[in-house]
Amino acid sequence: MNWIVYTFCFIGAFAFMEFVAWFTHKYIMHGFLWNLHKDHHEPGYHLFEKNDWFGVFFALISMAFTMTGVAHGFDWKFFIGIGIAAYGAAYFFVHDIYVHRRVKWFSKVDNRYLRALRIAHKIHHKKMGKEHGESFGFLLPHPKYFKKTEQQQRG
Ligand SMILES: [Zn+2]
Ligand SMILES: [Zn+2]
Repeated sequence: MNWIVYTFCFIGAFAFMEFVAWFTHKYIMHGFLWNLHKDHHEPGYHLFEKNDWFGVFFALISMAFTMTGVAHGFDWKFFIGIGIAAYGAAYFFVHDIYVHRRVKWFSKVDNRYLRALRIAHKIHHKKMGKEHGESFGFLLPHPKYFKKTEQQQRG
């Protein structure tokens, strides 16, 4: 019985983080903490960005859940913690490596889902400023971007 609860905690935390990422990005990063996010919208390559502090912040939340979960004999808090960490890892690999190519790994990985996600995020980056952005979510690109991958393939 516990395993059902734990699986739910893990998947729930992962899915909830997509909402948290969208909300934080739209209302906080493009809101009162724009100063920390701004350098992520500036063109050019930076190995480290002020924007990385958001990643550090969520990693600390994940660690707090994971470690208190361990201290309580691997209870539900542990599974929430590793669910948040798994989202962070997915975000890092897809956003920082696949989309922005901060390091040159997986450059040959290619499929429709990743293409749609990449187009959606590049459209977000087209706007250099704080206001009037589009496409703030991340792992769930709007279906319209899947259509764009077809147009792209036709040339
Ligand atoms: Zn942004
Ligand atoms: Zn980005």
